[in-house]
Amino acid sequence: MAKVKVAWFDFCCCEGCQIEMTNFGEPFLKLLELVEPVEFREAMSEKTTERINVSFIEGSFSREEDRVRLEEIRERSDVVVAYGACAVTGGINALKNHFEMDDYKEAVYGADKDMPHLDTQDAKPVSAAIKVDYAIPGCPIDKDEFLRVVTQLVHGTSKVYVPTYPVCLECKLRETVCRYDDGDHCMGQVALAGCGAPCPADGIPCEACRGFVENPNEKALEQVLQERGGLSAAWAKKKSQMFTANLRGDA
Ligand code: SF4
Ligand code: SF4
Ligand code: SF4
Repeated sequence: MAKVKVAWFDFCCCEGCQIEMTNFGEPFLKLLELVEPVEFREAMSEKTTERINVSFIEGSFSREEDRVRLEEIRERSDVVVAYGACAVTGGINALKNHFEMDDYKEAVYGADKDMPHLDTQDAKPVSAAIKVDYAIPGCPIDKDEFLRVVTQLVHGTSKVYVPTYPVCLECKLRETVCRYDDGDHCMGQVALAGCGAPCPADGIPCEACRGFVENPNEKALEQVLQERGGLSAAWAKKKSQMFTANLRGDA
């Protein structure tokens, strides 16, 4: 069987998802029995202009000039997968969408802020520029989920499974002590599951890096963050918006 040609492309992001993949170890090597990477900036220097079976796109669409590159990738790819919060929803990059552009450019670039190569716009998901076939959430992505999705795609599955229930369910399944019972806070009640709830298991709150479930009760979340988690009203609001800034109008 001919190997599936896969490529990784990055846009506005920290490339942490690609780096995470280089840490997958043995399972990633196993994957190479099925796929042939033809471009992967963090792991190889080769580039390709050939047709690609599956293109993985990391990072937000946050410069109009990136639209051309995204369209070109779409044009020569059979399947496009957005992976990581930045690509799927805009991720934490989208926090800037709720500030004045001039202010955040000044804060980041200082006196250089008006240089042409630092041009920017609102951080949007990749799907705002091109058609995306599948999305893998998370900041960074989860190893098991990524390998499962790629294996499904390589075997010609037309529907990729991502859970729709909250992280609390996975947390309860692994019998982790609730952060709230430890005097802490957590957002697992409304966070989209699929990661296996590793953060509470490691004694840290879920920050909902995979985004929220459908129709989350955001008011109740903010209330419980304050009343049980001990956060101030302003901090509870900011916390709940960290990975959902693009989905909310009041950040
Ligand atoms: S999703 Fe997170 S880890 Fe991945 S590129 Fe964006 S900021 Fe980095
Ligand atoms: S620790 Fe977080 S994810 Fe786990 S049960 Fe409590 S609120 Fe839910
Ligand atoms: S537990 Fe929450 S913050 Fe941690 S990986 Fe899962 S969704 Fe992300």
